[in-house]
Amino acid sequence: MTKTTPTALADEKIDTERRRLLAAGGAVAVATGIILYGAGAGARPKGQPASSAQRWGMLIDTNADPSDWDTAISACKREQGWGGGNNPATDPQWIRKVSIKNKSTGAQATFPVMCQHCANPPCVDVCPTGASIKRADGIVLVDKHICIGCRYCMMACPYSARSFVHEPVHNQKPHMPRGMGTVESCTMCVHRVDAGLLPACVNALNKKGSKAIIFGDLNNPDSEISRAVSAHVTRRIREDLGVEPGVHYKGI
Ligand code: SF4
Repeated sequence: MTKTTPTALADEKIDTERRRLLAAGGAVAVATGIILYGAGAGARPKGQPASSAQRWGMLIDTNADPSDWDTAISACKREQGWGGGNNPATDPQWIRKVSIKNKSTGAQATFPVMCQHCANPPCVDVCPTGASIKRADGIVLVDKHICIGCRYCMMACPYSARSFVHEPVHNQKPHMPRGMGTVESCTMCVHRVDAGLLPACVNALNKKGSKAIIFGDLNNPDSEISRAVSAHVTRRIREDLGVEPGVHYKGI
């Protein structure tokens, strides 16, 4: 795993929690230069399972600068090691750009679509081996060790968010084992979230001064994402399906 310096760690800590603690006058240890978080916030303590106390989610602003989506996609590729296969038509796509147009007004929007981390994920329902799983905190994952590549989950996903790995895998990351013949999708950067860090796409956007994607705990009414979701009209794609995505969109 990439070594993270204390300074970078402090920079990338989920700022919603930082603000919450600072606003509350919470205990902040400064001796090491790293902001330490109380139990239940920030990094998940080693050995403790994910908890339903959190519901991790994202809010995507579809009115953001279109170049932001290229930033997010590049960051995802770098972090997770996908892309760069011999056949772009079959190369996995963990996050992709989708464009829509209102036929009556001509208004258009382009925004990213990735795994929507549904509360009622159809991929988990149809998986015959239990490789598709949903954690208590809402993150939906594929266990590559028991995925048999049947692709039922790909057919069940209403968002076409999952990819099959057709070619031998290069550029393997220690935190993300990948394998030809298995299915994969956005993990919400679970390895970073568990360490108290922002997902790579969100972090890359923040570094360029963009808030095009806000990540945080939808169960915490004081989190940045909860405040944004209650302050703006947002929607989730195909809400009519009842799958309860964790990804919200603003501006569509
Ligand atoms: S959360 Fe991580 S895996 Fe998901 S789209 Fe962003 S960078 Fe990729």
